[in-house]
Amino acid sequence: MYMRYFSRLLSAMAGPRPVVFSGPSGAGKSTLLKKLMKEYESVFGFSVSHTTRNPRPGEENGKDYHYVTLEVMQAGIENGEFIESAEFSGNMYGTSKAAVQAVQARNLICILDIDMQGVMNIKKTDLHPLYISIQPPSMDVLEKRLRDRKTESEESLQKRLKIATVDMELGKEPGVFDVLIINDNLEEAYGQLKHALLEDVNKVKKVNMSS
Ligand code: ADP
Ligand code: 5GP
Repeated sequence: MYMRYFSRLLSAMAGPRPVVFSGPSGAGKSTLLKKLMKEYESVFGFSVSHTTRNPRPGEENGKDYHYVTLEVMQAGIENGEFIESAEFSGNMYGTSKAAVQAVQARNLICILDIDMQGVMNIKKTDLHPLYISIQPPSMDVLEKRLRDRKTESEESLQKRLKIATVDMELGKEPGVFDVLIINDNLEEAYGQLKHALLEDVNKVKKVNMSS
């Protein structure tokens, strides 16, 4: 009883409510998140995940991901350094406690970009984030976006599309996500995202202005 109270107290003290973004690969999560963090630099901070996949052109170690070997990742998981971890399309991904704490220590809204397994595992923790699902308008559009991004091999692309069909169904199930955004027109989707986060943004701005 005391422990439960104590851990709730700790999570309440940890700062503003984090935000989880999930949805099929290629739906536009990174595009929307980068836009949001650029407009509200002093409000949001990104939880930099660990991954065993290779960096894409333009991605930076420590900024987009911490790129690690499978051995390093497994050792970290065994040491209890991760809040959650999952295998996605043949690679490991995970959110470290340090990544979330680094953002919360700056009193910013922590953004997590994670897959469906991550969403389900975060639901078992004390993080209590807002869950936002970013969905493409259709599978055809998703495939076109992934192909045009030119970051995946044909094999990786097919794996991602297969996972996407399951994710698109799960994303629509009642009670899993608080907010569902269909990213068809980018500006419209971004407008909906800002609207969904308005209250949280204003709270952080108010607290940070008075401190
Ligand atoms: P995710 O992070 O969900 O995997 P990305 O943000 O990388 O997806 O977006 C996948 C591709 O689709 C990128 O090339 C991006 O520029 C493009 N994209 C994102 N949103 C839109 C949109 N609304 N309309 C057209 N293209 C988009
Ligand atoms: P990508 O390789 O396209 O960057 O990411 C592939 C998938 O892994 C995306 O659905 C992304 O949300 C997810 N992902 C990224 N980081 C994490 C993480 O730390 N944990 C989990 N569970 N999924 C992640």
